[in-house]
Amino acid sequence: VTDWQGRHVTVAGLGVSGVPAARALHARGAVVTVVNDGDDARAREQAAELEALGVTVRLGDGATLPEGTELIVTAPGWKPDKPLFQAARAAGVDIWGDVELAWRLRGPDAAPWLAVTGTNGKTTTVQMLASILTAAGLRTAAVGNIGVSLLDAVLGDEEYDVLAVELSSYQLHWAPSLRAHSAAVLNLAPDHLDWHGSMEAYARDKGRIYEGNRVACVYNVADKLTEDLVREADVEEGCRAVGFTLGTPGPSQLGVVDGILVDRAFVENRQKNAQELAEVSDVVPSAPHNIANALAAAALARAFGVPATAVRDGLRNFTPDAHRIAHVADVDGVAYIDDSKATNTHAAEASLASYESIVWIAGGLAKGATFDELVARSAGRLRGAVLIGADRALIREALARHAPEVPVVDLDRADTGAMLAAVREARRLAVEGDTVLLAPACASMDMFANYNQRGDAFAQAVRELGA
Ligand code: ADP
Repeated sequence: VTDWQGRHVTVAGLGVSGVPAARALHARGAVVTVVNDGDDARAREQAAELEALGVTVRLGDGATLPEGTELIVTAPGWKPDKPLFQAARAAGVDIWGDVELAWRLRGPDAAPWLAVTGTNGKTTTVQMLASILTAAGLRTAAVGNIGVSLLDAVLGDEEYDVLAVELSSYQLHWAPSLRAHSAAVLNLAPDHLDWHGSMEAYARDKGRIYEGNRVACVYNVADKLTEDLVREADVEEGCRAVGFTLGTPGPSQLGVVDGILVDRAFVENRQKNAQELAEVSDVVPSAPHNIANALAAAALARAFGVPATAVRDGLRNFTPDAHRIAHVADVDGVAYIDDSKATNTHAAEASLASYESIVWIAGGLAKGATFDELVARSAGRLRGAVLIGADRALIREALARHAPEVPVVDLDRADTGAMLAAVREARRLAVEGDTVLLAPACASMDMFANYNQRGDAFAQAVRELGA
């Protein structure tokens, strides 16, 4: 579409993506109607802002397809089986997400996209990638699912040489024509299955990120599903599959040899200088899953032609976001680690694999997950467990099945002092040299506004303990 004049477009959902979408379409002459399920204060504020421009906004009615709609642009989180979309499909109306709109309006012209998806590690990897690209002197930004709308990035005044783009499975679902320069799927574990309908559908949506790649499809050697997705993708001629592994790399793979992150050149040509990217200790935290994230970021940066020295500098300059394996304090020889962002079992497993003797604080909203595998694989590392939150019984039962000797404190509290109580119980179970690890494996909304608040409560409790 190049001529938007007079076209009737319905924007589904206000928020981070809907507001810039409505603005951009209105500015191009489209007749825009925004429909929104909610009708709260925030929605009213955003609606007023758009109405002042001449956009029609219907609050509290996200189900009815406005008459004359020629195209829907939806917020990524809206489920494909919503009545609005059923009506649209019946009427032969296309549905795009915000990412698709950004791509169609100016995607390829703004800057090449280096795209990242996966069940866990997306934000960290995209930030590492942006740090590496910046170290190479390129004008770049970390955008997408990370909280910076792609529309704002590609339509804004700032010029970029390349974009580091985080894409969720939802965004990919709604972005059929997106073509990245290169892309990575970090890992695939069951998540958001209620939205996608099945693991196959979830994987298929993630796999969209490889479609039409020009230079490299980056996959995780340890996660065969990601390699399968590369094989199934329809890519540009000359685009190659590049693996990353925590072990010694094979051909066309990045990996780790004697504590050094090495490039594809390690196997392909044995030129020493070209092959060394960084040391494991350059990556913070240097937990295995995070080394994997660094390798994926390095693979994408190298696909874009960034020199090895910039990979090292970018990784050294990088500081992780809060609540991702953040070291809070040592109290009486016990380390306290906040990984509140471990909101699913796959993330919590990576977290638990990073320490030896752990008192684990876990629990919250399980979102339909089961905990048997996680507990069975981590049992040997557990000194004890303190369980909080609505679905803690599920974890307690898994512990009883797979780690019956591990002492468990089941904390039936949801008040504001609950986290302090949990940290006190953990302190009681820990001995010198242990790690008390908040890696809940669950969402936080039963007790907290979000994972940030949960992590802050943990850090606050640790400080009180040390005081
Ligand atoms: P995302 O943006 O995909 O949610 P983040 O970088 O914010 O990913 O990390 C989320 C959580 O997932 C972190 O708390 C960490 O415990 C875990 N994690 C990070 N990278 C990985 C990985 N490569 N594999 C498994 N778990 C990971």
